[in-house]
Amino acid sequence: MYVSVRGRLLLNAEALNMTESVGNYVKRRRVPVMIPVEGGYGLFFVPAISGESIAHKYQELLAQEALRMGLPVCRLCERGIFLKSANDDVVKFAFPKVSFPDKQVKGAKGKKEDNPDFEYEFEKNVISNCVVEDVGGFLYAPARGGKNVKRTSNFLTGYMIPVKEALENVVIDPQLHSRYALGTQFVKDQEQAGQMIYYVELTSAPYTFSFDLDTKFLGAISFDVERAGERVVDDKEYKRRVEASLNALAKLIIEAGFGAKRTRFMPSGEWESLVIAVSDDTWTVPSSFSKDYIERAKKKAERISYNTKLFIYPEKQLEEVVTEAVEEALSRLQV
Ligand SMILES: [Zn+2]
Repeated sequence: MYVSVRGRLLLNAEALNMTESVGNYVKRRRVPVMIPVEGGYGLFFVPAISGESIAHKYQELLAQEALRMGLPVCRLCERGIFLKSANDDVVKFAFPKVSFPDKQVKGAKGKKEDNPDFEYEFEKNVISNCVVEDVGGFLYAPARGGKNVKRTSNFLTGYMIPVKEALENVVIDPQLHSRYALGTQFVKDQEQAGQMIYYVELTSAPYTFSFDLDTKFLGAISFDVERAGERVVDDKEYKRRVEASLNALAKLIIEAGFGAKRTRFMPSGEWESLVIAVSDDTWTVPSSFSKDYIERAKKKAERISYNTKLFIYPEKQLEEVVTEAVEEALSRLQV
């Protein structure tokens, strides 16, 4: 089952993705974007919200949802720390009760040799004991010795960038702020001025949004070539994991709570449009960078369909669209 989401989200006065601070100046993330212009292409440097930022929030929501449903989540993921089984120390801390396979085993002649099942067993253990790493993947890369094990994420997301029609009009503006301490004993002389000034770059734009979820390898081995696709959780658990993934996605869309600096720079924002496609096989909604993406999605579904069903905002209420899409997806689980 494949769920594909594309949308447009208007965000005003936001500082959701900052890169560095130089002294008292905090810079907004920018990316280069090209569009065709007469006789060639034009380049724009525009504000963006990284896919990593979206993925972080999604995995936070997934961890909470999994725990609420009584599904396993490792000790680090449950706290929103996504070190993802990076090395032996991390694995030991994250899964204190799980015994991981030995890297070396006794061979035929009694000599120690590499455990041929290490990668398989390792991935199986992580999948079984952490839903976040099952859905969002991990990379085990110990500093010394041993083999790497990699699990590719089952969800895909990317940079949110200003939509095509807005590119030429987007600006980033440094906003001055100050913290006052005048009139207190903490400021000794006027030279110190008693205030700390700082700048935060703000911007406003209608952004693209993209997110896909592929359940094909959920709860299943992916790294070991021979055994890729072998499911290591039972049918009931698989279904509940898919449900947790969909519930987290629903919350990600409805609350749109991703990005940083939300405590003092919470954006004023709203969805302008959204399409969710539920299919039996890989089927993606066309990019929402161009205005006519909903029409193109409908035309695509007429030509190519894997039992593809579209759920569209604003044709229906946002909550209705999301809920119906989740219900449709859940009804397709063949177990
Ligand atoms: Zn984990």
